Amino acid sequence: MAHIDAGKTTTTERILFYTGKSHRIGEVDDGEAIMDWMEQEQQRGITIQSAATTTYWKEHQINIIDTPGHVDFTAEVERSLRVLDGAIAIFDAVRGVEPQTETVWRQANRYHVPCIGYVNKMDRMGADFYFVVEDIAKKLKITAAALQIPIGRESSFEGVIDLLEMKEIRWENNGENMVTSPIDAQRQSAAKEWREKLIDALSGVSDCITEKYLAGGELEPSLIRAELRKAVLKREILPLFAGASRRNMGVQPVIDAIVDYLPSPFEAVHATGHHQKKEEDISIPCDPKGQPLGLVFKIQNDREAGSLCYVRMYSGVLKSGSAVFNNTKKKRERANRILRMHSNKSEPVDCLEAGDIGVIIGMKLAQTGDTIGSENWPVLLEKMQFPEPVISISIESKTVSDQDKLKEILAILSREDPTFTIRENDETGQLIISGMGELHLDVLVTRILREFKLGAKVGNPQVTYRESISIANEHSENFSRILAGKENSAGITLKVEPAKRGSGNRYVYAAKNTGKSEAPQEILEAIQRGINAAFSSGIVMGYPCIDILATVTGIVYSEQTGTEFAFEGCANMAFDEACRNASPILLEPIMAVDLTSPHEFVGEVMSLVTQRGGQILSMNSKTDIDEVKAQAPMEKMFGFMTSLRSVSQGRANFSLEFSHFEKKSER
Ligand code: GDP
Repeated sequence: MAHIDAGKTTTTERILFYTGKSHRIGEVDDGEAIMDWMEQEQQRGITIQSAATTTYWKEHQINIIDTPGHVDFTAEVERSLRVLDGAIAIFDAVRGVEPQTETVWRQANRYHVPCIGYVNKMDRMGADFYFVVEDIAKKLKITAAALQIPIGRESSFEGVIDLLEMKEIRWENNGENMVTSPIDAQRQSAAKEWREKLIDALSGVSDCITEKYLAGGELEPSLIRAELRKAVLKREILPLFAGASRRNMGVQPVIDAIVDYLPSPFEAVHATGHHQKKEEDISIPCDPKGQPLGLVFKIQNDREAGSLCYVRMYSGVLKSGSAVFNNTKKKRERANRILRMHSNKSEPVDCLEAGDIGVIIGMKLAQTGDTIGSENWPVLLEKMQFPEPVISISIESKTVSDQDKLKEILAILSREDPTFTIRENDETGQLIISGMGELHLDVLVTRILREFKLGAKVGNPQVTYRESISIANEHSENFSRILAGKENSAGITLKVEPAKRGSGNRYVYAAKNTGKSEAPQEILEAIQRGINAAFSSGIVMGYPCIDILATVTGIVYSEQTGTEFAFEGCANMAFDEACRNASPILLEPIMAVDLTSPHEFVGEVMSLVTQRGGQILSMNSKTDIDEVKAQAPMEKMFGFMTSLRSVSQGRANFSLEFSHFEKKSER
């Protein structure tokens, strides 16, 4: 995981090469990296989808997921981190901790993912390993312990000093041969100093190291490794390595470190699940003998095989050809085939065991985030959290006859990507797709054209606003309609109240029935369906509602005429009427804007942001660039890339990430 361009894909390529699974090193710049196999990724040179790959090193199986660094693809990062047991945080030796590194670091914290750190691009102009060590301690608030220090830097970067074995390492023959030698006399004192720092950091968390060190005993590398492993698992220390992946230097020690310091599935923090019958949270030990339980963390559509469901198994065994129960959808499906993915090749396997990551073929209903297992154990794994889509565009097929096909394709794409949503405008019949940013939608539209070969026209990007209310209000609605000669009637009293910003919508049923008979469960469910539908269809403008508490305070039900149809419609109408008189407001998405700019342009870059209604939050100077953090309304940020390019001769960069919703026109 890392900021975009730190070198994740390049490093992953090397890992795959050295672990012997690929025979040629793919270059990102030539557009032929093995992990970036989607056609678009190759053209854009960024990692859009995290392909999961299995490889082997020193009798260990390693499953790799190369996460994208671009904020428009937060969902990809989120789902990868949810199922990972450990991560390699990659830093650019010139840039250190970049804005996106901080974001993914926070996500890794949330899922308690143990990490090791790799300072890449030691060969770049301005590379400074020691600056990165300090930057990590300052910004990520973790002790960074260098296990290596670099020999030389920039174009004279030669190799590293291993501070555990106290020897120098250099790379030859495309990096395939690691050549070790004793530490050169002129580097002895620096090596000693940094080994001291390492031991010092370790003794801060290990009594065993402290005691041995104070007693003047020899600290065996194996002991240091063992104690370091414990500290990494507890996320107390971030061990740091140095290298230049593109020059094939520094990668094998990082692969060793995966084996040495990152947890096996058996040591990883247990997943938490919610037992639906017992209504309690339970801890799920990684046990192949337990009941089967897995999480679908990604769906990928394959033209030949259909839906590829990427699954992480947490417990038990899932056999190829067997029935699988989708605990989330409460439906039975079949795992026709199970595959282990080796980059863009796949290998059929008989089963997936607790701890494994693989692909199931044959499940048609599963969506990203679903829990699968067996009917006997009704457990739901913790849901992944995805941000809200904030921009939309209208889309239509080039020919009228293709419109249905377009709908099908959009449905497939949204099953793959939970941050991509589709709705149909009731009045115009236009299809509106929403996503995380301009790049996100652009990639999706290009996929429709290239992958599905369907011509489509798109409108200009628009902001997806939200609607809410500012005061409480109660409303009683009566519904009565004759359908096919039969009367359908319902009465609902609904109270709506504004909830805390960011808390989401909530529905509560607290009604006294004043009708003649008790309302059955189906009627209560119909009311909830009506309210949920109303939440998503807006109040005045048709944008989704947020932060509203809707409480049903009374219903009038009659056994003869009270139908589900009547109650669902009545609930929907009651909500709209109640909200209309509760001072509805329009909310707009405010984005966190992270900018990087060469020093000479930073003044103009900042004024560009303020001209667009943005606020500068902080500025931070680095060796080659300045980093600026700001907030700005999404509405004003369209086309920002072009303006930014023109004031900075194309050298400034930015990323936009959703921050929060705010009442429109407050800025
Ligand atoms: P990702 O976005 O994190 O996956 O980064 P990539 O692996 O796509 O690399 C981004 C750019 O940095 C590419 O142009 C790489 O060739 C370049 N790069 C990667 N590793 C190194 C390195 O060790 N040294 C230098 N100088 N460039 C590198």
